[in-house]
Amino acid sequence: MSSTVVVAIDGPSGSGKSSTSRGVAARLGLRYLDTGAMFRAMTWWMLEHEIDVHDVAAVAAHAQEPDIVSGTDPSAPTISVDGTDVAEAIRGEDVTGSVSPVSAVPEVRARLLALQREAIDTGGIVVEGRDIGSVVWPQAEVKLYLTADPAARAMRRAAEEGGSDLAATEQSLLARDRIDSGRAAAPLVMADGARHIDTTPFTLDEVIDQVVELVGAAQGQV
Ligand code: C5P
Repeated sequence: MSSTVVVAIDGPSGSGKSSTSRGVAARLGLRYLDTGAMFRAMTWWMLEHEIDVHDVAAVAAHAQEPDIVSGTDPSAPTISVDGTDVAEAIRGEDVTGSVSPVSAVPEVRARLLALQREAIDTGGIVVEGRDIGSVVWPQAEVKLYLTADPAARAMRRAAEEGGSDLAATEQSLLARDRIDSGRAAAPLVMADGARHIDTTPFTLDEVIDQVVELVGAAQGQV
């Protein structure tokens, strides 16, 4: 296995992206980058500094300030902002409720795009997000677009976050999808050349198997 491969995994939240990406990276000895965590870290910083996340100019003006560092070990991914470990804080409801408007600001995307490309650099990495195959790394050897039925997504997300109100979780996911798909800057789309996998009927291991096979096939063609 060449260690320069880049596997881009995009899709809406709850589609199985994170577990699949980590599982594939662990299985193949690759690094793992969660770009959603970077947008969440940026959002956490804006909330900490009491910046109105709906004020586009204010968010844009501060987008260069937070120092965001991602650790890429798939068995223990880390994320810090200005030296503070925010891995747990970025999963809170306040960040989840504010991340989509922050992510729609072009200055935020430009800043994180630079950090993401720096992290991907020489490859050997599985990268998950919304625009990896379309904008961040269109030359990725393997591009995937994962989806799942909204009810299945809500169930997975609620299990991850410990929430019990499935209807509310589903509504929150769909609201984020609408903003993520409708924004002007790097919207959630299926990238050219991406393979679509609807993960609804599969177990996590089955999805990981499929992706590992696709990576092997792509490597065989090089
Ligand atoms: O994947 P996760 O749900 O943690 O992503 C949080 C938010 O970050 C998404 O709803 C989206 O607004 C934003 N995001 C993005 N581009 C990416 C990854 C995430 O806009 N590549």
